[in-house]
Amino acid sequence: MVNPSKLGATATLVLLTPWALAACGSEGPAEPADRGACPSAPVEVIVSVDQWGDIVSQLGGDCAQVRTVIAGSSVDPHDYEPAPADAVAFEGAQLVVINGGHYDEWAAKLAATSAPQAPLISAVDLGGQDGHDHGGHEGHGHEGHDHDHGDGQNPHAWYRPATVQAVADAVTAELGNLAPGAREYFEARRAEFAERMTRYDEMIDRLRTEAAGKTYAATETVFDDMAAAVGLQDRTPPGYQVAASNETDPSPGDLAAFLTLLSDGGVDVLIVNTQTEGSLPAQLRSAAAAAGIPVVEVTETVAPGSDSFQAWQVDQLTALAEALGVGA
Ligand SMILES: [Zn+2]
Repeated sequence: MVNPSKLGATATLVLLTPWALAACGSEGPAEPADRGACPSAPVEVIVSVDQWGDIVSQLGGDCAQVRTVIAGSSVDPHDYEPAPADAVAFEGAQLVVINGGHYDEWAAKLAATSAPQAPLISAVDLGGQDGHDHGGHEGHGHEGHDHDHGDGQNPHAWYRPATVQAVADAVTAELGNLAPGAREYFEARRAEFAERMTRYDEMIDRLRTEAAGKTYAATETVFDDMAAAVGLQDRTPPGYQVAASNETDPSPGDLAAFLTLLSDGGVDVLIVNTQTEGSLPAQLRSAAAAAGIPVVEVTETVAPGSDSFQAWQVDQLTALAEALGVGA
């Protein structure tokens, strides 16, 4: 349990003030569902990265005060070093949501030291099995069984549709445990979240039906699990891929193999993470352009112009569908 007297008054104010303002403003962009006041005290939730932060905010509504540590696209989550204020923020948390899989290990450590009593939801550990018809209602019974790629598991878990569902279920369940008086409220938010995922689900289904078997190569592994979920085949030269996942430079031979793949028209689409700058993506893009291969841009974190996880993902899936000639 958190002893409230342990929280400095300053820290409490820092945590509460922006949300109190947001809740009171009548001119803000409040969603219709936020009208209902929370039937109990809001749950304090801390989320490591904004790929999950928006999802948790949607699920918590007025009954959660969600603070996301890395919000905005200017920081590379892979290289984040927590500030002292981050540890303070964890001290008030009743629930911690992280990506896991060493992606945000600093957050797992802060959770252990500064909020040891708070339940911890790790997206990577939850897994979520694709091909299970979005089941996963009882995620707790089956967590942690990696049916996947062993050591080199892709850490970008928010690109796994089944994991997104599993995280949403787990967050709703934990919020309900922490504020039993708001359980119905959280279940209603969960249903609304599912509704807001309709377009996302439809786009994935359509791609899976109409684009399965098409091929791609990618400048980074960030989107690979979504590409697999819609049935695309990865043709990225393995040597290049290993280097990209390790954030090292590919060998000249690996780069040459990639450029040849593109100039030979060996893939249907090139997927580029626009949040990684540098000469390599630029070279690959121009090779794709020269060969008439469409480029689809994706991002690691929520795209700056997107107002929700769903809008961000649907925009990318729509661009992918267009690039692959899948009908609108
Ligand atoms: Zn990444």
